[in-house]
Amino acid sequence: MDEIEKVNKALFGRKVRSFTDKGRTYTVYLGKDGKYKCTCPDFIFRKGSYNIFPEKHPEKAQRGCKHIAKVLGDTLGVKTILVRRSTGMGYVYRPR
Ligand SMILES: [Zn+2]
Repeated sequence: MDEIEKVNKALFGRKVRSFTDKGRTYTVYLGKDGKYKCTCPDFIFRKGSYNIFPEKHPEKAQRGCKHIAKVLGDTLGVKTILVRRSTGMGYVYRPR
């Protein structure tokens, strides 16, 4: 991880609780390329199992994990479509 990403993670990283293990928290932060990264195993080992499409913001579409989809949806205040890359199944995240 380079210096800019380290700073983004430390200062602006968003903590997201694991969906499967409530005791665990991951950090979602902005990479230098303008796409989000996450500290969870799905992102670290697979670069994320989903293609993520925030409604009304096609320029923010990216590959990633469920935590990135949550942060994108919450930050933009829009529904976010997740398409699992292995199966093509679609899911919707709705911000509160
Ligand atoms: Zn993640």
